[in-house]
Amino acid sequence: MSAPIMENPLHVIVVGAGLGGLAAAIAIRQSGHQVTVCEQAPALGEVGAGIQIPPNSARILERFGIGEEIRRLSVLPHAFVMRSYKGPELNRQPMLPYCEETYKAPYLHIHRADFHNVMIKRAEEIGVKVVLNAHVNEIDFSAPSVTLATGVTMTCDLVVAADGLKSKCRELYVGHADPPHNTGDLAYRILVKASDMKKDPDLAQLTEVPVINYWMGPGAHAVCYLLKGGELYNIVLVCPDNLPEGMAQQDADLQELRDIFATWDIRLQKLLELVQKTFKWKLQNSKEMDSWVHPEGKFCLLGDACHATLPYLAQGAAQAVEDGGVLGGLLAHVTAADKDNLRPLLDSYERLRKARTTAVVQGSTDLQNVFHLPDGAKQQERDRIMLEDNPTEGFPNRWRDPVFQKFLFAYDAFGEAEKAWEVLAEEYKRGE
Ligand SMILES: Cc1cc2nc3c(=O)[nH]c(=O)nc-3n(C[C@H](O)[C@H](O)[C@H](O)COP(=O)(O)OP(=O)(O)OC[C@H]3O[C@@H](n4cnc5c(N)ncnc54)[C@H](O)[C@@H]3O)c2cc1C
Repeated sequence: MSAPIMENPLHVIVVGAGLGGLAAAIAIRQSGHQVTVCEQAPALGEVGAGIQIPPNSARILERFGIGEEIRRLSVLPHAFVMRSYKGPELNRQPMLPYCEETYKAPYLHIHRADFHNVMIKRAEEIGVKVVLNAHVNEIDFSAPSVTLATGVTMTCDLVVAADGLKSKCRELYVGHADPPHNTGDLAYRILVKASDMKKDPDLAQLTEVPVINYWMGPGAHAVCYLLKGGELYNIVLVCPDNLPEGMAQQDADLQELRDIFATWDIRLQKLLELVQKTFKWKLQNSKEMDSWVHPEGKFCLLGDACHATLPYLAQGAAQAVEDGGVLGGLLAHVTAADKDNLRPLLDSYERLRKARTTAVVQGSTDLQNVFHLPDGAKQQERDRIMLEDNPTEGFPNRWRDPVFQKFLFAYDAFGEAEKAWEVLAEEYKRGE
């Protein structure tokens, strides 16, 4: 399937070939425009760990024409299971077939490399040009153009900056250094072989029915799920950040890691015995920016570059994919004849996206106080509410809160763009 041919397309440069940049590239190209992606890395790839694709993102991947392929490479979890760190189950949200019945899209677990590869393949198939070794160093916000570290300048009609948490483009836009914010937590990301787990009856049980297991304990939590047809078990462990200031990643000391979880569920302890090597990552996020759009109307930010979040709702990449869907959906209505009048469209993109992504960033931060409660009265109250399982707004299992769940999963990026266009169309009526 190729992209539609537009007579007078815009040329859009997307900075960054992460999941957000690729989503924007595919959506904008599917709207008929020319797209060049500038990626600083010499080769394309993603970190070797798992990622959750919620229905709000899966719905967009369908529109990209890759829904089936992504699903084929994914494991579909049957439930979200919340546990006390000692092991007992506190609460359970069914996911399969619930998500497809309720939200007409699945909840998926996939290896990041598989997700990224499918996105790259799709982007290239529909004519997106990806330039590697292309580190964007300078931006002319009026031309607009980007200048690479090599000195090459590339002009276009619109620059979409999707260069991640430590965005250079964001700094150029705000005009000063703007490093991400520490959250006080770090994460270990681990993969173990399910075949090793099957040798131990306690662990074998975790490989039988795919679910997302959360263990919540004092100052830390663990999230685990199966990947790759059930062959791998993905483990994310979150605990207090003790990385030196300025250091984002470090080889993990396995003894330190095991000590942190030494009093937790025996299954977690046994899992950590299977780990041979891992890293720890500082978890950082963003404060809400005043705006994502340059006043000249030829530049906007997208993804982690403008709304990096703690990963506790598993929505960071999903929100970046939504950004791409909304932007592509809006751009489907304009041509290069509008290139000097993109500001209303970009403002609309920002209006649709900023409040929602800020709520997701805040919702993720709030989960620190749900997941990491020390033993005591507040923790007992949390557990009591979860065990009663009477989910109403504010329920601590956020995926079981009926209002918040709908807010997260029902979002229709292309539908939102169409609704917004109905209002914008008046402004873009030409010759009147
Ligand atoms: C532990 C953990 C677990 C997570 N789990 C989930 C999950 O389950 N579900 C979910 O939806 N999200 C999850 N996330 C969040 C998700 O990984 C991110 O939100 C998402 O990857 C951001 O994508 P992005 O494209 O905006 O940025 P990035 O992935 O950071 O991509 C930015 C790209 O820009 C390139 N770049 C940077 N600077 C330049 C430059 N100057 N010039 C050119 N190129 C440049 C980089 O090389 C990179 O390729 C998790 C995050 C963490 C840390």
